[in-house]
Amino acid sequence: MGSLPLNIFHPLDPTEFSDESHAVIDFIADYYRTVENRPVQSQVKPGYLSKLLPKQAPLFSEPIETILEDIHHNILPGLTHWQSPNFYAYFQANASTAGFLGEMLCSGLNVVGFNWISSPAATELENIVMDWMAKLLKLPPCFLFSGGKGGGGVLHGSTCEAVVCTLVAARDGALSKVGHDAISKLVVYASDQTHSTVQKAVRIVGIPPKNFRTIPTSAASCYSLTPHSLQAAMEADVAKGLLPIYVCATVGTTAVGAVDPIREIGKVANKFGAWYHVDAAYAGSAAVCPEFRHYFDGVELADSISMNPHKWFLTNMDCCCLWVQTPSALVDSLSTNPEYLRNKASETNEVVDYKDWQIALSRRFRAIKLWVVIRRYGIINLVEHIRSDVAMAKQFEKMVSMDKRFEVVVPRKFALVCFRLKPRFEGDNALSINQRLLDAVNNSGQAFMTHAKVDGMFVLRFAIGTTLTEMRHVEMTWKLIQAKANDIYIA
Ligand code: PLP
Repeated sequence: MGSLPLNIFHPLDPTEFSDESHAVIDFIADYYRTVENRPVQSQVKPGYLSKLLPKQAPLFSEPIETILEDIHHNILPGLTHWQSPNFYAYFQANASTAGFLGEMLCSGLNVVGFNWISSPAATELENIVMDWMAKLLKLPPCFLFSGGKGGGGVLHGSTCEAVVCTLVAARDGALSKVGHDAISKLVVYASDQTHSTVQKAVRIVGIPPKNFRTIPTSAASCYSLTPHSLQAAMEADVAKGLLPIYVCATVGTTAVGAVDPIREIGKVANKFGAWYHVDAAYAGSAAVCPEFRHYFDGVELADSISMNPHKWFLTNMDCCCLWVQTPSALVDSLSTNPEYLRNKASETNEVVDYKDWQIALSRRFRAIKLWVVIRRYGIINLVEHIRSDVAMAKQFEKMVSMDKRFEVVVPRKFALVCFRLKPRFEGDNALSINQRLLDAVNNSGQAFMTHAKVDGMFVLRFAIGTTLTEMRHVEMTWKLIQAKANDIYIA
């Protein structure tokens, strides 16, 4: 007779789960304690990792301690440390204790709430949290489940998904009136500062790429889209027999943090019957502070608005809030009802089935994460979080303006400062000196910034907002930038 193996494979043994999770949490806590001392931008060369790791997957189990050792020695050096207090690149990806705890709950409970019945609490908590968030940002009632006008919100993984879904709804709404063959007549509008997600969405949903209009902006309007230029572009297209269907405005553009005039753009979009989306991926979080809310005035003219708590709202990746005035437009485009998903609750039409508000069927329980963040910190701390970053950015902007060699290129609105070294003499190549300055700072390992190009100018971006950043880091980095500028001026 055979005997049972002594070590039965049990990948979810609660004792082991607890022990090993503690080991990983201790590892991450140590990482946060020491992340400041690591080179912010990874200094490895392409292909470094395959030289360090075995070519084959292991046949037998390995202890978590060994795996963490490998992460320490081989993986951490290949990371660019987004949680370093000296990370000023792209946009912040705030990690926080509450964000991490919420993510653990999301991942640990691991439910897949694609329709109400598959996890009623997941759906209902998402309804509640989206209304909480909408109220925090002072969105008009038309975007709330409780607003009584049919609106509501959904959590996606990214703004890119949110934009694709709203564009699909806009496309189908238009085609249902003019016939499916008219897809080559549909036109989408954004500014030359709009995130590339809209251009990508145009391609994904089958609208000809040549029907994507990027309307130029300039320093005169602080790089925001003007209603006149939008109107002119839309009129020209209508005159050619084309059909404007979607306009995207941005609060806090990626390159320079510009703000489009939401009400004025909305009036133009509404006049042409186009779907109007407001992308506030980065700066949406600032609306929690009354002093920034005016940037969103007129948002009631929008069909949809999205923002990313995973950027500046202390919510670990991933989490994007999308609110729509008419969820039925999303459902009409995205709903499928195979037999194996049919159930009584869905048929009553009394519940939300979030599978019909997004691309995928499966979905994460992100609502629990955002709920933990909001509860654990409270509105008071969330407001303070934004204000303290903005205060540091103001201080940095002041330091830049006091050094005559530099200029602030775009007036700061939130916590992003765009500046550059001025040319030293007539004919000096400003692009090259600023590229050299950026490389010198980033190669030092002591800070990491990125750049943008506006009006042909190479601009350095200083995006403040990593959770661990304090004023002393900003001051040290400014001294570093000045020292590297000295080297360039002497050379
Ligand atoms: N829109 C804006 C204004 C952004 O700044 C970004 C990212 O930086 C995005 C969209 C893309 O967001 P996601 O990565 O969530 O798709």
